[in-house]
Amino acid sequence: MSNLDLIDSICGTCGKEVSLTKLRVSTNFQYGQDFPVDDFEVFICPRCNSGSVLNLKLQYKQGRRREEIELLQRSAVNNADMYTLSPGPLPMPRLKNLPDDIESAWDEVLNAGRASAWTAAELMCRKILMHIAVDQFDMDEGLNFTAYVKKLDEERFFPRMMMPVIDGIRERGNRATHDLASTPKEQAIKTLDVTHYVLRTVYEMSA
Ligand SMILES: [Zn+2]
Repeated sequence: MSNLDLIDSICGTCGKEVSLTKLRVSTNFQYGQDFPVDDFEVFICPRCNSGSVLNLKLQYKQGRRREEIELLQRSAVNNADMYTLSPGPLPMPRLKNLPDDIESAWDEVLNAGRASAWTAAELMCRKILMHIAVDQFDMDEGLNFTAYVKKLDEERFFPRMMMPVIDGIRERGNRATHDLASTPKEQAIKTLDVTHYVLRTVYEMSA
């Protein structure tokens, strides 16, 4: 969701869910030319004041009027496929009160997601869920992934409506490690969602 001056995003610097606010438009028209020589906008995070640069993926043709170009730019800012932001937005927010080892693992998940490395992001989420089970219930290390998910489920770490998603995560987690099947984005996002929920419940909300 965005309008001309705001983009709802998870700040690539501070990891908070914010509306990035447009600072200025920097579309430069070179003298004598009717298409822009560069095309970017600077957005500011209201939480940490860091800037993100938005680059529009527009192809300009000679002979377009400036008003037409501005119209194109407006519609592009409303469509996430039509621009890139740098630093790239995080796929999920950062969390407070995480133990150091879990915080660095969650950072790895977020950075993998930001780079669209969804298989790596999901693998790391599985490690986090196993870690939580071992940590909270003194379970043995090296058990089957299902055993950890089962324990977390028995201890009511997952709400009922999450169960179809949990089953999917468990099923993918049980595939042999030599299976190179990759995780599509929408499945990885569900796993990130569940992991975020559990981390938030265990560490952030109970702190
Ligand atoms: Zn920020």
